[in-house]
Amino acid sequence: MHAGNMEGNDLTEKFLLEAEHLTKEFKARGGEYFKAVNDITFRIPREKPTVISLVGESGSGKTTTGLMVLGLLKPTSGTVKYEGKDIFKMSKREFWEFRKNVQAIFQDPYEVYNPFYKADRILKVTIKKFKLASSESEAKKLIAEALKDVNLTPEEALDKYPHQLSGGQRQRLMIARALLTRPRLIVADEPVSMVDASLRADILNTMLHLKKEYNISYLFITHDLSIAEYFSDRIIVMYQGVNVENGDINEVLSNPYHPYVKTLIESIPIPDPKRKWTKKIKFKSEDLTERKVSSSGCIFYNRCPVATKICLTKQPELVRVGKDHFVACHLYSK
Ligand code: SF4
Repeated sequence: MHAGNMEGNDLTEKFLLEAEHLTKEFKARGGEYFKAVNDITFRIPREKPTVISLVGESGSGKTTTGLMVLGLLKPTSGTVKYEGKDIFKMSKREFWEFRKNVQAIFQDPYEVYNPFYKADRILKVTIKKFKLASSESEAKKLIAEALKDVNLTPEEALDKYPHQLSGGQRQRLMIARALLTRPRLIVADEPVSMVDASLRADILNTMLHLKKEYNISYLFITHDLSIAEYFSDRIIVMYQGVNVENGDINEVLSNPYHPYVKTLIESIPIPDPKRKWTKKIKFKSEDLTERKVSSSGCIFYNRCPVATKICLTKQPELVRVGKDHFVACHLYSK
């Protein structure tokens, strides 16, 4: 079994959230099952706010992982524990409390709004859902505070229809909504990918400020390595559902081991959140069409320029290659 562990964590530490061996299978068109997420494990400490980035191309399983962490999608196997409790075994009341503490920000805030209602409704609905205020004036105060935290004024944001707001304002409002409940963790799925490049760093800086100010951790889902570098403490690089390399962000990005991760990093020589990771990734392709992937082999076999015989038949497990750095590749198996 693919270990998928972030073995760098001290197991005696208490964790806010533990995702253990998360696996999700879906049925493909031909009726066969495939693993969209394959044995992903990570932990978010309780005391120290931490940003973990899940990075990968589209189809790598990062969004599916985020949905399982939010309790919106049940894993085929594996567990998500919040404060030590399996979120899929929680009572209705416990799950409500969990969702109050674990909020989400999605890629396209426009989709979250109802175009027929003014923007303040989205904040009021959250206040009502989580019973955050006992009076109208208390609700107003909460809304004003949350807007201030994301650098918006009530005049700018509240009395407007969604189409009257810029993409950046809509996303700030989504962050304000998440903040209302004073969450411990925010699952942020590509939160700045629809925002103008010039505003991207501003929004990320606001989120980093909130991390410090309110001890908020983030599970940050992105396809953009330069943004992950700017924003994260730790990284998990996913390829076709598998954790191929993970660890401390600086260790992984300054000294990548996995052939896939090396190529990704070569495609962004200068880390800069204003730049998008758009360059097409090229892998050497000699004999690739001849190769067949065995389900027990390495997931990257078809695209790997340095594959050997064993890669076809044996799935590599994560091995430690640095103080807080793990890679799943036979080149480094002991
Ligand atoms: Fe390439 Fe083999 Fe390493 Fe997979 S295990 S990345 S195929 S060298």
